[in-house]
Amino acid sequence: MNNSTKLIHSIPVDKLTGSVSVPIYQTSTFVQEAPGVHKGFDYARSNNPTRQVLEDAVAALEQGANGFAFASGLAAIDAVVKLLESGDEILAVDDIYGGAFRLFTHIYSKFGISVKYVDTTDAANVLDAITDKTKLVWLETPTNPTLKISDIAAIAAIAHNQGALLCVDNTFASPALQQPITLGADIVVHSATKYLGGHSDLIAGLVVTATRELGEKIKFIQNASGGILGPHDSWLVIRGLETLHLRAKEHSANALKVATFLEQHPAVDRVYYPGLETHLNHDIAARQQQGLFGGVVSFTLKVDTVAAATTVVTATSLFKLAESLGGVKSLLCHPATMTHKSIPEENRKSAGVADSLIRLSVGLEHPDDLIQDITSALNSLKVQVRSSFATA
Ligand SMILES: *Cc1c(COP(=O)(O)O)cnc(C)c1O
Repeated sequence: MNNSTKLIHSIPVDKLTGSVSVPIYQTSTFVQEAPGVHKGFDYARSNNPTRQVLEDAVAALEQGANGFAFASGLAAIDAVVKLLESGDEILAVDDIYGGAFRLFTHIYSKFGISVKYVDTTDAANVLDAITDKTKLVWLETPTNPTLKISDIAAIAAIAHNQGALLCVDNTFASPALQQPITLGADIVVHSATKYLGGHSDLIAGLVVTATRELGEKIKFIQNASGGILGPHDSWLVIRGLETLHLRAKEHSANALKVATFLEQHPAVDRVYYPGLETHLNHDIAARQQQGLFGGVVSFTLKVDTVAAATTVVTATSLFKLAESLGGVKSLLCHPATMTHKSIPEENRKSAGVADSLIRLSVGLEHPDDLIQDITSALNSLKVQVRSSFATA
C-alpha cells in the first residue's frame, strides 16, 4: 500500500459511534470501575484518546515505534534533551534552529550538558568532532534558512559507532519527503506548527522514537514534565496530516518554480534551494528526500543591504511578512532582522545569513501569481535604486 493511503487509513473511524472524524475528547479525567481498573485512560496528562490517534499516526508516518505530542516543537526538543545526564555532550548542526540553540546553550548548559556545533554538510566533520562524551547528535536537514543538506545515513553510522543517539529535526522536509528513522536515526522531532499542521493555525510538537525502549523513556519524560498537546490542537494536527502528501508535493513544485525563476533574476545574487543542481549536496537531498525538495527557498540580493531586503519584503502582497513557514498561505521573512536578530552579526554572517537574505515559505497559491508578486517586489527595488541615484 502507498504511504498516502496508509496515512489516511491509519487515522481510525471512531469505534463507539462510527464518526468518520476523530472525536475531540475534551476531558481532564476518566471514570474508573475500581481503583486502577479503566479503559486504558486514567488522567489526560498521561493519555488522551484524541492525542493517542495523532501519536500513533505520526509514528506510522515516520516508520517509528512510538509517537508523542507536545505543546510546541521546542517542548518536543526539550523532552529529547531530558534523555541526557549531566556531563553529556550534544553535537549539533551549526545552522540549527534558533530556539534549539537557545535551549541547548542557555538552559541545558546550567545542568552540565554541553553542546558543540559543527558543519554537518560534510560527515567527516562529525567524525572529527565526536567524542566519548557525545551522547546525542542533533541534525536538521534541510536547515533554516540556508537549506543546508546533511547525509543522515552516514552521520547515523558515525553516531552509533560512538554509542550516541541520532536525533533529526524533520520539520523542513516533513515525513512526506524524508523518514530519518529508515536512514538510521533513533529519534525524529517536529515542529508540527509548520508542515504537519499545515494551515498556520496552531503551535505543536512531535517526537517519534525508532524503538519501544526509547519510546518508554520519552513517555516517562512526557508524563513527568507534562508539556503535552491538548485534544483540540491534536485534532487540528490530525486534520493537517490527512492532506500532508498532497500539500508537500504542491509546496515542492511551487518552490522549485520560484527558485528557478529567482536564479535567473538580475537583482538576485544567490538562491538557496536543495532542488537546484547548483545547491551543495543536491544529490544527497535528491536521494534522501525522494526527489522532492520542500517549500522553503532563500535568496540574497546583489545589493546586499538590510535596506534593500526591507524594500522587497514590504513590497509583496501575496507573500505575507511573518515568521514561521509551512502553511497554505505564502510567507516571507528577513532573518537578519527577524528570526536571527539575537545572533551576533559575525556569527550570523559566517552562517551564511547575509544582510539581504530573504526566506520564502512558498504556499499553495498558483506559482504564476507568486512569481508575479516577487517580480513586482524586486522591481520596486529598481525604482528605489534609481531614485537614490537621482537624489545623490
Ligand atoms: C519552528 C521550528 C522549531 C520550533 O517549533 P515551535 O513549534 O515553534 O516550538 C523547531 N525546529 C525547527 C526546524 C523549526 O522550524
